[in-house]
Amino acid sequence: MMTSVRKPRVAVHKFSSCDGCQLALLNLGEDLLALAERVELVHFAEAGPLDPESDVDVAFVEGSVSTPEDIERIQQVRRHSRFLIPIGACATAGGIQALRNGANGAQWVAQIYSHPEAIASLAHSTPISGHVNVDFELWGCPVNSRQMLAVVNSLLLGVAPHDNADKVCTECKRHGYPCVLVSRGVACMGPVTRAGCGALCPSLGRDCYGCYGPAENANTDALAAQFERQGLTPQAVMQRFQSVNNQAPVFLAAADKAGMPRDE
Ligand code: SF4
Ligand code: SF4
Ligand code: SF4
Repeated sequence: MMTSVRKPRVAVHKFSSCDGCQLALLNLGEDLLALAERVELVHFAEAGPLDPESDVDVAFVEGSVSTPEDIERIQQVRRHSRFLIPIGACATAGGIQALRNGANGAQWVAQIYSHPEAIASLAHSTPISGHVNVDFELWGCPVNSRQMLAVVNSLLLGVAPHDNADKVCTECKRHGYPCVLVSRGVACMGPVTRAGCGALCPSLGRDCYGCYGPAENANTDALAAQFERQGLTPQAVMQRFQSVNNQAPVFLAAADKAGMPRDE
């Protein structure tokens, strides 16, 4: 992929987000210093370099498109980037701010801000792929440092990054963590959630809440039925699918279905 002798140029752009995914890159610590030897960090406001309009080989994009200005800016980033990679739930699925997509956003703004006319936000928060072509997506809220490094290393080696769309349950079993769904009847989203975090929450005795988004072939019907057998109300089942990846099509459909009256 990258045959030039010059260092590959990398940019990290922020859209509507909390900065947590950029921290995943900063948290690389010594690995980030080593990486800085191999790439030229052209734009990364959190770390210092500021040059958002330069041409780059790889652009990581954190955040969703939530304002009119975001729409123009993501087009510009796309024009200047050879590979464009959205990182995190905001960038891949609209993020928690996309909960407004099914509500009256203008009403919320009026309730919260004393000068709502000063807020320039779109009615919907949408993923980066809804506006430009993307070359790979890294899911998670936040993404983890290991994933970020693996993607950069793959691109530096000229190979396509590995896309692990398997389920969190596979990581859980591999590590031998006790299953909180089976042993404690907790409503764990691991059976429908994409792997990548190393089953972090079950490793601490907690249920997965789906922050890595839908896994491949996610059987949301079966999991929703299981949640109901465990005593969750349809409203509670719906809310399990309405977390940070609420606009991921698989979770959106599952939430809609859970909220619909059932034929007896
Ligand atoms: S995905 Fe999560 S951690 Fe990353 S920017 Fe969005 S809210 Fe923050
Ligand atoms: S704890 Fe959750 S992620 Fe782990 S095996 Fe059970 S259902 Fe799957
Ligand atoms: S276990 Fe689930 S909620 Fe916890 S970090 Fe992993 S994907 Fe996110």
